[in-house]
Amino acid sequence: KPLSMSDFAKEVNKPITEIIKYYFSQGMMLNQNTTLSDEQMGELALHFGFDFKKEQNLTKENIFEQFQTPDKPEDLKVRPPVVTIMGHVDHGKTTLLDSMHNSNVVSGEAGGITQAIGAYQVTSKSGKKITFIDTPGHEAFTEMRSRGANVTDIVILIVAADDGVMPQTEEAIDHAKQAGVPIIVFVNKMDKPGADPERVKTELMRHGILAEDFGGDVPFIYGSAKQKQGLEELQETILLIAELKDYKSNPNKFASGVVLEAHLDKSKGPVASVLVQHGTLNLRDVVIAGTTHGTIKDMENEVGKKQKTAIPSQPVLIIGLNEVPHAGDKFLVMNDEKVARSIAEAQLHQFVERERSNKQIFTLDSIKTHIDDGEMKLINLIIKADTQGSVEALKSSLAKVNIDGVRINIIRASVGAISNSDITLAAAGQALVYGFNVRPAAPVRKKAEEDGVEIRLHNIIYKLIEELQAAAKGMLDPIM
Ligand code: GDP
Repeated sequence: KPLSMSDFAKEVNKPITEIIKYYFSQGMMLNQNTTLSDEQMGELALHFGFDFKKEQNLTKENIFEQFQTPDKPEDLKVRPPVVTIMGHVDHGKTTLLDSMHNSNVVSGEAGGITQAIGAYQVTSKSGKKITFIDTPGHEAFTEMRSRGANVTDIVILIVAADDGVMPQTEEAIDHAKQAGVPIIVFVNKMDKPGADPERVKTELMRHGILAEDFGGDVPFIYGSAKQKQGLEELQETILLIAELKDYKSNPNKFASGVVLEAHLDKSKGPVASVLVQHGTLNLRDVVIAGTTHGTIKDMENEVGKKQKTAIPSQPVLIIGLNEVPHAGDKFLVMNDEKVARSIAEAQLHQFVERERSNKQIFTLDSIKTHIDDGEMKLINLIIKADTQGSVEALKSSLAKVNIDGVRINIIRASVGAISNSDITLAAAGQALVYGFNVRPAAPVRKKAEEDGVEIRLHNIIYKLIEELQAAAKGMLDPIM
């Protein structure tokens, strides 16, 4: 039976604002009295990863009585931490991933050729597992996040000791902070003659990354990805954080998680690497992934070994989907092919609509609506300016801006042209991008349009501030 949004929210134990926000991000203004169709409920289930009880058979009719109440504490089991490595180009991300992987490939598993499946697991000396996402770089990380897929528990910020903090290091810091995940710094290339770890520490301090001996709590590991130095210490530090954070998940239910990578294989058809986040994925399971679905015919791990099951934090390659899903798509197991198909179709329909209407996710115009909903307490901004002086002036002026109940939150402020990374961060953080005496290049502008990010350009500080205040009060000049 169809449910109103507020009944549905109660049923699945989610704050209604989350659901409204979700639709808002899809460019739809729905309220708590809106009646949700079966397809919409299924879609929400997919987006939020609601879980279905395992015992019963799912049909289109009973599907929504099947939402499981939150996991009982006793059902939760410790799972390996999921780690992403970020840092400036050439600082050693790929080398670190390779060294970590190679030092771990069990020779018994040889015969299997290592295949890139978007992530791999290593077993530390202490016997505990760690999952590494092996598409390095913050673009991929934030791209995933902007689609609501939080896969990473811990970020490793790699900084070359002979080079120090560079622009992409700064970007990586912004992204990690925005995601609110713990950071471990790996100071790499300590074998090089020009290595200056103290400099790295001081520079990072300026960006709010404080080492323990500077009074902070960010672990710093010194080593060399190439010489395989410091890797064990790095792994132990990851596991220490994992222990403190106590990452857990319920393995005893239908699986759900995220698509890491996908492609079309000439002989196997659509092939997707997925990361299981909850539950256990089994051969023959019926899966919805984004706008596609299918029955899992085959599963393989990163060395091509056949798998019958995959548990939380385990990456696995699946074969059997009807189409190639997108990286960042959520997947969800349902044991009913028909329901799976109808939800996948509804998702596809939505996706096409969304692409066509190309709605903006977050605009100056919409600020007032957000505030009235009581939903927005922060206006997120990214500021790019021509000089450090302008950056500082803007920061201090914006700090003084007073809008009832709403705080201005600057998630990035730096010198330089508006870049793709700014747009990705804005999309993930629902931010507006302000250029002060700087402009975006054409490809960046295009990306902003695609991602639904609004860019505003100014060259007088008070005009920028007036505009923000006006928008918050809903008095924006319609010509703008
Ligand atoms: P990425 O762009 O961050 O993935 O960086 P790469 O892993 O491709 O490394 C860039 C270059 O630095 C390569 O030539 C690596 O061999 C080299 N490199 C990486 N780690 C180390 C290290 O610990 N010591 C030295 N000397 N070179 C390294």
